[in-house]
Amino acid sequence: MPIYEYLCTKCEKEFELMRPFNKADKPAKCPRCNSEAHKRISNFASKTGSYLQSPVKRFRK
Ligand SMILES: [Zn+2]
Repeated sequence: MPIYEYLCTKCEKEFELMRPFNKADKPAKCPRCNSEAHKRISNFASKTGSYLQSPVKRFRK
């Protein structure tokens, strides 16, 4: 399962979550405040262009 980065819309906490590919775009729950967090796509898009929809982690290891 790929790991995605999420950013909480309320407290702006960043965290990583392992999810199935088909659920990656759905909001996750922030581990700190339990609010809705959305997948971060901006930094990976700037590194790779609009290449493939791949997990962020793939380009770091
Ligand atoms: Zn939060």
